[in-house]
Amino acid sequence: MPVTMICPNLGCRRPVVASETARGKIVRCAYCNQPFLVPVKPAAKEPAADPKSKKNAR
Ligand SMILES: [Zn+2]
Repeated sequence: MPVTMICPNLGCRRPVVASETARGKIVRCAYCNQPFLVPVKPAAKEPAADPKSKKNAR
């Protein structure tokens, strides 16, 4: 299952998808080339906890 993170570069902040095998490793943002560590644990909350609340940003 792919890992989705937000790029830590404040000028970028784009969602970056890395493969699960990249956990604990350094990957580069495809947009700004910023290297960062893929967390071993999921950084974002699992949406499965509450299926009713959709991420509906306007
Ligand atoms: Zn970036």
